[in-house]
Amino acid sequence: ERERGPRMHPEMLELYEITDHVLGVGTFATVKEIKLKETGKSYALKIILKKTLQGKGGMLDTEISVLSKVRHPNCVSLLELFETEDAVYLVTDLAEGGELFEQLLQKGSYTEGDAARLVYEMLLGVEYLHELDIVHRDLKPENLLFHDKSENARLMITDFGLSKVLTSGNDVLMTACGTPGYVAPEVLEQIGHGKPVDIWSVGVIAYTLLCGYTPFWGEVSSLENTNTRKSTGKLAKSFIDSLLVRPADRRPSATHALTHPWFRAMLEQDMVTP
Ligand code: ADP
Ligand code: MG
Repeated sequence: ERERGPRMHPEMLELYEITDHVLGVGTFATVKEIKLKETGKSYALKIILKKTLQGKGGMLDTEISVLSKVRHPNCVSLLELFETEDAVYLVTDLAEGGELFEQLLQKGSYTEGDAARLVYEMLLGVEYLHELDIVHRDLKPENLLFHDKSENARLMITDFGLSKVLTSGNDVLMTACGTPGYVAPEVLEQIGHGKPVDIWSVGVIAYTLLCGYTPFWGEVSSLENTNTRKSTGKLAKSFIDSLLVRPADRRPSATHALTHPWFRAMLEQDMVTP
């Protein structure tokens, strides 16, 4: 017996070597590095204990149906799924570069050029999810992972546990969820929310990358002013201000946000037009 925990799926154990390397621990899951025996290639295994879900089983179904649809360079994709009585095991791409959260802690903050690239990639992922009518609802630096350890590693959105596939594009979601600090005010106020909540979170993340701290510290988002640090350029401020607006329907779509002049000013031409 290797350790306490749920019994592993027998077929999974035949195909994969489960390493002791824990990649991360989230709200609902532990994520381990695993290796496909046939090729030796590493993947991530997200282990979700059914008992930690307690009546939130619907959430799990959501995550699975959402993840299995997603194929985009800036989103983590689901490759395989195993289920036992106690747990669900999701095999996904391995994001070897770790969390944006960790890198942000190390760096303190980013230059405008670096922040613009990261936010641009984030928005490409969000644009794609929104095209599939998926609202992530928990975008934050812990749920943004680097594909590899290189300097210009691609950023990938993960953890669709709280997202919902909207049946119609304009559906209003009413449950309170998400993480204080990054979550849009209409979520906290429970007056319904859709795709614009992700745009709000991108605005908060953009601010955080440039300043090193979140604009709304702790509890409820007060929209007094977004006093971005003085050294931050005009275009960056105008970008952030355009996302952190309410009511929600005044926020740009991801597609529209990607056209902001901040990106044109900061990114090399070949990145903006792939
Ligand atoms: P939870 O739903 O419990 O928050 P996450 O999917 O966010 O679970 O995973 C928890 C943590 O595990 C992440 O914050 C990250 O550090 C790590 N992690 C998750 N998926 C991967 C992956 N594909 N590659 C590398 N690390 C990962
Ligand atoms: Mg998470």
